[in-house]
Amino acid sequence: MYAGDHDMERAVAELAGLLPAPLRPLARVAYNYRWSWTADGAAMFETIDPERWARTGHNPRRLLTETHHSMLERAAEDTSFVGWVERLAAELAADRARASLDGPIRPEHPVAFLCCEFGVHGSLPIYAGGLGVLAGDMLKEAADLALPMVGVGLMYRTGYFHQRIDITGFQHEYWLDVDPERLPCVKVTGADGRPVSVSVPIGNENVTAHVWRVDVGRVPLYLLDTDLPENSQLGRWITSRLYESNRAIRLAQYAMLGVGGVRALRALGLAPCVYHLNEGHPALGVFELLAQVQAQTPTGLETEAAWQQVRDQVVFTTHTPVPAGNETYERSEVLAMLGRIADVVSDRERFLAMGRIDPGNPAQPTGMTALALRASRQANAVSQRHGQVARAMWQPLFPGRAVEAVPISHITNGVHVPTWLQGPMRELLNRHLGEGWLSRADQPATWAPVRDIPASELWATRGAARRQLVDMIARRATSDRLSRSEPLDYAVAGGGFDPERLTIGFARRLATYKRLHLVALLPERALALIGGAQPVQFVFAGKAHPDDIAAKDVVRQVFALKRSPGVAGRAAFLEDYDIPLAGQLVAGCDVWINLPRPPNEASGTSGMKSCLGGGLQLSVLDGWWAEAYDGSNGWAINGDVDADTPAQDQRDARALFDLLEHEVLPMFHERDLEGVPQRWVAMMRRSLLTNGPRFSATRMLRDYVDRLYRCD
Ligand SMILES: *Cc1c(COP(=O)(O)O)cnc(C)c1O
Repeated sequence: MYAGDHDMERAVAELAGLLPAPLRPLARVAYNYRWSWTADGAAMFETIDPERWARTGHNPRRLLTETHHSMLERAAEDTSFVGWVERLAAELAADRARASLDGPIRPEHPVAFLCCEFGVHGSLPIYAGGLGVLAGDMLKEAADLALPMVGVGLMYRTGYFHQRIDITGFQHEYWLDVDPERLPCVKVTGADGRPVSVSVPIGNENVTAHVWRVDVGRVPLYLLDTDLPENSQLGRWITSRLYESNRAIRLAQYAMLGVGGVRALRALGLAPCVYHLNEGHPALGVFELLAQVQAQTPTGLETEAAWQQVRDQVVFTTHTPVPAGNETYERSEVLAMLGRIADVVSDRERFLAMGRIDPGNPAQPTGMTALALRASRQANAVSQRHGQVARAMWQPLFPGRAVEAVPISHITNGVHVPTWLQGPMRELLNRHLGEGWLSRADQPATWAPVRDIPASELWATRGAARRQLVDMIARRATSDRLSRSEPLDYAVAGGGFDPERLTIGFARRLATYKRLHLVALLPERALALIGGAQPVQFVFAGKAHPDDIAAKDVVRQVFALKRSPGVAGRAAFLEDYDIPLAGQLVAGCDVWINLPRPPNEASGTSGMKSCLGGGLQLSVLDGWWAEAYDGSNGWAINGDVDADTPAQDQRDARALFDLLEHEVLPMFHERDLEGVPQRWVAMMRRSLLTNGPRFSATRMLRDYVDRLYRCD
């Protein structure tokens, strides 16, 4: 039904041919990431060869081709295991056989979801952070809801960087090759058996791309790849690195994603009913849509009517107010890379003007966000507060309109519950919330039984989740320290994390506005908490963009405290933050901290994931927390905007430690006769009941369908 079906069939048959007959149904399961969010898909692959499963980064295609044949034979002889395989294969088949969600969005006219990164799974390293993870969650949720959607992105051949911290706390970056031939994906070929290809005029070159397909449940994700011998070395580099440092190459990437992406959809036989530009990176696609409209009109002119036809097909989501996410380019930069794209549809001045705040001012630079806002029929921000911020920020684009009338609404983000609800908490909720509850995760009534889960059971589950996390921290902290040649006593002290201690987490991209540095701003108070009679333990993780020198320096500030007494076994910075690490941290931490400088946090999603694990939020009232906090479901730090940032940092750091010392720590240790902290558990309940349904991707995607994806 979708382009690449026969390629997928061939790949599945090839892989099945390598397996003992009883295990052949596994091949199909391996080629669809749906296994990763079902209850026991990962467990099934792990059972075959736990060590190989870990070594392959939980990549089932590699597991099945690299595991020794004797392991496969042994699994094939185990009838209960074979039954397990057959059940998962049958579930996948049944899921794919379901009818699509009723409505005007149909498989041949799907929603085309374009994004520069997709965080589907740790084994598919084409994501950097929250934007990509959200995009992955959107695809998974569309698959679960049977909403016809296809994803379009780039197959980065070295992905995002990996992080190594040296002994001084300095971040180093390295890149690893991503080999599509070993990922659960296929190259899409046409009826002639040759790879489907598109070509985009970039700079002086016509750059060619092939298309890979990755299956995310019922949703195909198409990824463009320019690493082909027919391209120049520069052309090949376009799909090398996510968030490439070179500005000119970034522009080339946007052209490939936008123009190439829209062309690829056509080449794949799809006529989307709506194009969703998820953040500004794919916005150049609107010029390709314009060209398609022009090709159908006798005059072929760039008229207002033609633009209106483009706008009718396009919606746009803005994801951040910070400048790095809303880059602009000078005319010479734009024309050097994109001049020939401009020539096809328009004249160069008008092309540049589409991306200016004031189109009539030739001195202004050109940006993707302005282009996307101007060329879409509807736009949204990703939380209520971000809606207000975005309307004020982009008001100049709509002269004559009051800020409240700027046409940017909001749909608050949510997280894909079956992906992020893991471990003991998932088992607990499955026991209490009833058959099939995950498909009703957006309804408050679904979560109501949380009220009746005995406090002792909730607390025991929290303890089990914390224990799993502490085991992981102890292992990783020690090996991270050994690999940066720390003194041995300090390295092995990483094993000193305690499963009974209050465990506090902070992990996200290290942009300076996320303010990890606040935890190191009042070192004597941080050290007192760590070394007190009732010590707490901290776990940190996050990557700074290679060019963000200030953000990299924050890691150094945190590292400066590491040799203080008691710290070695009670605070750790874990290297190379990624989806698997995020999953473990949000499932295990008791308290999840978020300290953005308001109003820069558009939404934030890791806190939503932490809620699912029974974690409690301690956050600045910015992004999603500004609408989620109700006085009883977590803790809040004032979210007012203050132009005096050093003063605000001091004040917010004090507020953080005041809350930790006077509220969080005492509540954690206030136990009844059975050792249960009743007030703490009551807050966990409030958090699950209020945040669980509201910040699920089910609620989010239903909002997109109802309010943004109109297709009539
Ligand atoms: C959820 C997630 C993020 C986003 O976290 P924020 O709280 O929104 O900053 C970033 N990286 C990874 C790996 C994630 O899973």
